[in-house]
Amino acid sequence: MVRFLSTRGRSEPVGLGTAVLQGLAPDGGLYIPESIPVLPQDVRQPHGRVPSFPELAVQVLSRWTDDWLTPAQFEQLAERVFTFEAPLVAPAGETDMHILELFHGPTLSFKDFGARLLGGFLGHLQQKSDQETVVLVATSGDTGSAVADGCSGIEGVKVVLLYPKRGVSPTQESQLTVRRPGVLPVRVDGSFDDCQRMVKGAFMGPLPARIRLTTANSINIARLMAQMIYYIHAGLRLMGKGVDGRAPVFCVPSGNLGNLTAGILAYRAGMPARGFIAAHNANDFFPSWLQDESARFAPSVKTLSNAMDVGAPSNFERLTYFFSHDELASLVRGERVTDEQTRGQMRITWQKNRYMADPHTAVALHAAKRADEQDGPVVVLSTAHPAKFPETVRDAIGLEPDVPEQLAAMANQPHYAMPMDVDPSGLLELIRA
Ligand SMILES: *Cc1c(COP(=O)(O)O)cnc(C)c1O
Repeated sequence: MVRFLSTRGRSEPVGLGTAVLQGLAPDGGLYIPESIPVLPQDVRQPHGRVPSFPELAVQVLSRWTDDWLTPAQFEQLAERVFTFEAPLVAPAGETDMHILELFHGPTLSFKDFGARLLGGFLGHLQQKSDQETVVLVATSGDTGSAVADGCSGIEGVKVVLLYPKRGVSPTQESQLTVRRPGVLPVRVDGSFDDCQRMVKGAFMGPLPARIRLTTANSINIARLMAQMIYYIHAGLRLMGKGVDGRAPVFCVPSGNLGNLTAGILAYRAGMPARGFIAAHNANDFFPSWLQDESARFAPSVKTLSNAMDVGAPSNFERLTYFFSHDELASLVRGERVTDEQTRGQMRITWQKNRYMADPHTAVALHAAKRADEQDGPVVVLSTAHPAKFPETVRDAIGLEPDVPEQLAAMANQPHYAMPMDVDPSGLLELIRA
């Protein structure tokens, strides 16, 4: 059984259940596994059939959980969590480049993977508890709808989502406010920062003992565990196919660095990789830091790839726990991509490869092209469906993206959001009720 430590080293080691329920460690640090279980032999040196997502999740992760989840229970849970595929697409006209489409889940971004595993874990943990769990999230984009969907309808779990009245697109708002059992979207008359401050305020309480508050952004270790699986799965599918069977480079469109950290956890567990590319927009703290250790966090700036507009990436603390600056700099190549280059890449990828990329994927495609890794496969992680960003797609290539059924179905469902002023006490009252 793996124990989880805080990156700040001033909290007691805990089991996975506590780490998932708490989200953040009591000393303000992020939970990290004390030791990373090595991947089973047939995952590192496979022969024959590539396992399904649920099979792989059980093989890789069942040793991370402790006694609240037996292997048989984990199997059932994984079947309910990993219900959609992640196709590996080779765009026409490219040699050994592969786009890993992670956006085929219910809310069309890669965040569905982590949110669904988190929901599955909470459901199990809840069975042994007489407290009610309230998952509180401030969101300006994909996290909110993924968590609403992934944690909806679980006995004893309620989700409260705060989003800024101005600052989400019509498509995003529609995804956030679809009526779901156990989920309350709150439309705050303020900015995203106001929402985040209200969430922080609510954690200060006071709340009655029957309510436990938790959060669901990528500081929660459950989200990263789910994401490790698609890296390993992609690696297995490519194995033995490329030049001399070389391991891939993974190119990751990054903001809070959760996705990159998940890949690096998989690598630490023994997944073959030649390295990683961290593709950032103008919020370029991490590429700057890789070049020069004296770089500091900066306020975030708005870009076309808005889910990556993060000035102070929270998972940086995990990466620097595992590696020194020099180790990270040799494992990860940092790239920064402007909005101009993002739009240009969307256009080129459409014209040359007949592939429609969303702006986040386009940042990664541009970074991968620039890095030009020629000695083996490159896997570009595609984190969102282009239909989530119709305005930017229209602007870049002059076309409307096809609307997948998940999104089309939402338009006809009932929607609801509770309006609220920027008022921490109002939020506490709501949670108590
Ligand atoms: C959240 C998000 C990202 C950034 O992922 P991190 O784990 O925060 O680095 C990239 N693309 C999309 C579409 C996202 O929603």
